[in-house]
Amino acid sequence: MPEHRKVVIIGSGPAGLTAGIYTARAQLDPVVLEGEPSSTSDQPGGQLMLTTEVENFPGFPDGVTGPELMGHMRAQALRFGAELKTVKATKVDLSARPFKVWVDGEEPSYLADSLIVATGARSLMLGLPNEDRLLGYGLSTCATCDGFFYRGHEIAVVGGGDSAIEEATFLTRFATKVHLLVRRDQLRASKIMQERALHNDKIEIHWNTKVTALHGEPKLTSITVEDTVTGASSPLEVTGIFVAIGHVPNTSIFEGQLELHDNGYIAMGEGSRTSVEGVFACGDVQDHVYRQAITSAGSGCMAAIDAERWLEGQGA
Ligand code: NDP
Repeated sequence: MPEHRKVVIIGSGPAGLTAGIYTARAQLDPVVLEGEPSSTSDQPGGQLMLTTEVENFPGFPDGVTGPELMGHMRAQALRFGAELKTVKATKVDLSARPFKVWVDGEEPSYLADSLIVATGARSLMLGLPNEDRLLGYGLSTCATCDGFFYRGHEIAVVGGGDSAIEEATFLTRFATKVHLLVRRDQLRASKIMQERALHNDKIEIHWNTKVTALHGEPKLTSITVEDTVTGASSPLEVTGIFVAIGHVPNTSIFEGQLELHDNGYIAMGEGSRTSVEGVFACGDVQDHVYRQAITSAGSGCMAAIDAERWLEGQGA
């Protein structure tokens, strides 16, 4: 028999757990489906589980590691009675209320009066050996989070879109030199961002260049790059590599049920409302602009308050 809940939260990054804390304190007895361990961001704790030091989350003047921060949020949600289940939602039916959520098997495991979607997004990765091991140890997907650690270093950024240029430009504040590795002979980025990269003395653009290997134990010490025209390989001595080749939101189970933008992110209505009444979204699954732990947590709070008020309006 499926369990009937007032609130089911899918995802346990800062957005999902903040929604858990707020809905638990509002006595809504939420269950948080926190995902299953994997090497991607749709695991319990989300993308912060893949980072090392977090220095910009307010309240931690000496910094905190990503996993520690998520441990605190988890403990806080549990303290107020949120139930956390280490399972992955595999299917939803949002066509009628209560909504149905499957975690395994043929039958739905949960019926939900309201649903909070906090499934996050994941960075596209290069698919190289060592990538998982070096994440947080020289390899990063977030310049805002990790740039500070590369003060005085020579580093590389992979990608030719707006994100890559934005990250490369930001990183020139810290690094002595930023190698921008572009796989084609042109950038995909907007003209204004291209100009920014081309006129920055600290950015060296390597055209037709792909990364073929990452070296270093335990931290990154160099990479190998290949000229895609000549096929020639050469080493590049960098202590940091930022992969900025795009993100994908974890929205596959909502396709055809929630309105999504062309890029796959959830289309939002007022506040945290989605196209389906009673379904709320928060965190990176609906935000391709800010993508910060703090903005994600803030939107989790919004979703919880919106869900609480909506349930109240339903007389639940
Ligand atoms: P994009 O999809 O726009 O660009 C991805 C870039 O990464 C492309 O240059 C692509 O190369 C390259 N790439 C993809 N896969 C690989 C790979 N395996 N190896 C090497 N290079 C690869 O993603 P962004 O994250 O840059 O941007 C996403 C959206 O967000 C865009 O609409 C962008 O405009 C927007 N944005 C806007 C910003 C702003 O206005 N300030 C800042 C950041 C993002 P190729 O071109 O060959 O496909």
